[in-house]
Amino acid sequence: MQYNQQRAEELTRRWRAVQETIAEAATDHSGARTETSAVPELMVVTKFFPASDVAALYDAGVRRVGENRDQEASVKASQLREEHLDTEADPLCWSFIGQLQSNKAKSVVKYATEVHSVDRASLVKSLAKAYANQLSRYEAEEAPAPAAHARGALDCLIQVNLDQNTTPSAGHAAEGQRGGTSMDEVMQLAELIEGADGLRCAGVMAVAPLGQDPDPAFERLFDISQHLRQEHPEADQISAGMSGDLESAIRWGSTVVRVGSQIMGSRPQNV
Ligand SMILES: *Cc1c(COP(=O)(O)O)cnc(C)c1O
Repeated sequence: MQYNQQRAEELTRRWRAVQETIAEAATDHSGARTETSAVPELMVVTKFFPASDVAALYDAGVRRVGENRDQEASVKASQLREEHLDTEADPLCWSFIGQLQSNKAKSVVKYATEVHSVDRASLVKSLAKAYANQLSRYEAEEAPAPAAHARGALDCLIQVNLDQNTTPSAGHAAEGQRGGTSMDEVMQLAELIEGADGLRCAGVMAVAPLGQDPDPAFERLFDISQHLRQEHPEADQISAGMSGDLESAIRWGSTVVRVGSQIMGSRPQNV
């Protein structure tokens, strides 16, 4: 896939700069991190930007990208696949990180290896059903394998609502509001995910509440993660931190930060 060399250099430079910021933030031991904590991974959020940018990032070494709209993500992922850009031996992993309507699960399991925005029981059921259908069609040689097939399961992260000023209600993501389940629902959802064939509970995800100090919010997320891990030790991922608050998220134990604008440049509001 063709891309502009200057743009590729810009993306590579910014990607490396964010990696340095992450490495620096990882030396902060004032919160949840210890000497032995791993350096968080960087997921590049490529929403709004063209597939050619993703191709440039892949060539620079990026193997993990995030998207928040199925329609856009499915097109980009298939464009890159058609180009045989990401090979089976060295795949590009697409994470779905946005509010997800249940009827889009069918499409998402085709290209996403993980979903970071699982916030309600009905979505768990839809993802499990979609994964099972795709798998049986693959086994009947009617369709490609689900994207997560090589890993053995679709990783699901439970999105937690950290905003204490709103009353959380299941399914609000589907209603178009800022997504996230309440803390009490986390354990129930984890049970449901672990009980579903083809799904695996990988941890928790959150977006810091708008206009509030992110530190106490991310500290709460860390506590929820600890609680979850008591019963599900494998669910050890904490997906937290964006361009504006990644240091705070890392201080509180983020294992994967989702960075868009600091690497890609700014996008129109609400994208
Ligand atoms: C867009 C988006 C990001 C990246 O945001 P930036 O501020 O551009 O880094 C991270 N997480 C989610 C869920 C997003 O929708």
